[in-house]
Amino acid sequence: MPTPTDQTPDEPVLPEGPPGLAGDPDGMQRLWVPHRMVYLGGADKPSDDGPGPGCPFCRVQTQDDATALVVARGERAFVVLNLYPYNSGHLLVCPYRHVADYVALDDDETAEVTALTRTAIRALTHAYQPHGFNLGMNQGAVAGAGIAAHLHQHVVPRWSGDANFLPIVARTRALPELLADARSRLAQAWTAVTGG
Ligand SMILES: [Zn+2]
Repeated sequence: MPTPTDQTPDEPVLPEGPPGLAGDPDGMQRLWVPHRMVYLGGADKPSDDGPGPGCPFCRVQTQDDATALVVARGERAFVVLNLYPYNSGHLLVCPYRHVADYVALDDDETAEVTALTRTAIRALTHAYQPHGFNLGMNQGAVAGAGIAAHLHQHVVPRWSGDANFLPIVARTRALPELLADARSRLAQAWTAVTGG
């Protein structure tokens, strides 16, 4: 398996997104597909580890859904499209509270992160009919978390033969439009699968 140093660092796979949106620049690639690790130059990294406007997942909570690419909001956690998707429909489930460790969540937060993750799978299945999913958290920068200070659960739909999908889509300038389209499609799917 190639190591990260085998990558060709000629250009980032993804363009820098618009400011103010939430995303995890490279956590997924490091955890599950290290040979696809991308170079993003620290785009959208928080300025410090504290809560507040310097954290993209805290900042999302003060923005409207369409601007922030939020798909659904619960009482203690929310669901947002990753600004740096591995695949179309790559979602992040985040507690509102700025905590880094999974064990720092209280029981209600843990239950809602789980419930939202399950509904995210149902909504993605409704909207995109994926063949499988990657689920998980990268806890800590050493484990590959792009935004280590604010916990987030990845929900990544997978399709057979999708390994070469990202470079094709990500090198186009249409990514922000694709994300906006995905957000409204998934918000509608969320309503459909929750009956609300
Ligand atoms: Zn935060």
